[in-house]
Amino acid sequence: MTAPQRPRPARKRALHKFIPGLINCVQFEEFMVNYFEGTLPPARRMSFNAHLKVCRECRDYLAAYKQTIELGKAAFENRDGPLPDDVPEDLVQAILAARNTPG
Ligand SMILES: [Zn+2]
Repeated sequence: MTAPQRPRPARKRALHKFIPGLINCVQFEEFMVNYFEGTLPPARRMSFNAHLKVCRECRDYLAAYKQTIELGKAAFENRDGPLPDDVPEDLVQAILAARNTPG
């Protein structure tokens, strides 16, 4: 299990010109945390989903991110049990620390 790699930004400037209000990959990444926390406002969620439809890199990134969160959740829920061998301890600690950060 390796940490998700941020995909290289693709040439999507032309696309953004044709779809007003479409967020770019950087904004997508910023929205992603709130998306998973369920705190993304509906208007932004629409932009988020729209970007997801047109951007393969971000789809892949989201999938990897989701997988990381699920691994972290599993570790959190089974904190008294043994961790799977393929979950790096520092990754788990980083996720647990993020979960305990208010706001
Ligand atoms: Zn993107």
